[in-house]
Amino acid sequence: MPTDIKSLTREEIEVQFKSWNESDFRVTQLLGWLYAHRVTSWDAMTNLPKSLREKLRDHSSLQILELARKQGSGDTTQKFLWKLADGQFIESVLIPANPALYGDASDRHTLCISTQVGCAYGCKFCASGLEGWKRNLGVHEIVEQVLAVERESCKLKVEGCKLSTNQPATFNRQPATVNNIVVMGMGEPLANYENLIKALKILNAPWGGGIGARKITISTSGLAPQIRRLALEPLQFRLAISLHGATDEVRNRIMPVNRKYPLKELVKACEEYQHEKGRMITLEYILIAGVNDSLEQTRPLASLARRLHAKVNLIPYNQVEGLAWERPGEEVCENFLAALEDQNVIATLRREKGGDIDAACGQLRLKTERELRRDGGKYSD
Ligand code: SF4
Repeated sequence: MPTDIKSLTREEIEVQFKSWNESDFRVTQLLGWLYAHRVTSWDAMTNLPKSLREKLRDHSSLQILELARKQGSGDTTQKFLWKLADGQFIESVLIPANPALYGDASDRHTLCISTQVGCAYGCKFCASGLEGWKRNLGVHEIVEQVLAVERESCKLKVEGCKLSTNQPATFNRQPATVNNIVVMGMGEPLANYENLIKALKILNAPWGGGIGARKITISTSGLAPQIRRLALEPLQFRLAISLHGATDEVRNRIMPVNRKYPLKELVKACEEYQHEKGRMITLEYILIAGVNDSLEQTRPLASLARRLHAKVNLIPYNQVEGLAWERPGEEVCENFLAALEDQNVIATLRREKGGDIDAACGQLRLKTERELRRDGGKYSD
């Protein structure tokens, strides 16, 4: 399989073009078609000479994510199930921003993207890990999730969306829907480190996705060595820890990764990250009834948050079919939030977003794959 063009940085494309005696101006035109106009075929790049388009076609692939299913919820959270070139499925979720969550005005949208097909980390409450890990996503498959969502959103907008083949390719971008990225979908992002970082560099670059590094949050279940590595990256991405338990006892029960990197080691890596970056970390905490939602748990959680100068995002559990875990009642969640605030912790509680659309990470994919197996290659809509 040739390398996909969206796996390459501008510098890599320039080297290739130089070897073909093509100018940097042609590189700018190509990148304009890919990232400003988000076209889906070589033929749409009408101001590139036909001979260059032929060379590109022979040399690179231009893979497009195929929309297999889309679900929208009452609060306009939308979940996209994409079919990859090899028939695997991944999910991305577009969430209207809650100003309190990632610090932006409410006309903003956050896209939650996946980095692996399935997941090897096997957190007990998570649909993504239920059937294990299949493969890492390529750079282009991570990048394409943003472009594909933009194309889908663009289809819905009457104005401002002219993917006409006659336009000159410039960096006058089509209006963007995605303002923030959280890498918190299917898979453990830091277990696909190289592809993730390269994809985020492309999404951040002015010639690429143009999304500020500070608008990009990488979430990890706690891979301490990779957190240290991330601390040395020059770009200022945000870091979120999927903590879900503030003691080893709770984390060991629901997150097997904690046996390899217990809290002591994880916290040390986070401190090193903060020392290098000087940036606030977010602690994600899914509230699961009877597991980690007692007020007692707020004490170690508050102490951890204060030690790391971190804010806490509380997320009531989204039920997963086939798993016995349950979401706590509203009052329990509100009391948990209040107890953290009383202990001088900056905390937010995610009120319902996407609960009616198989919102738990990996759930739509699982449902679709089960339907495909049961119904011999078909899934209902
Ligand atoms: S929560 Fe994240 S790391 Fe854990 S199994 Fe799910 S996708 Fe993997």
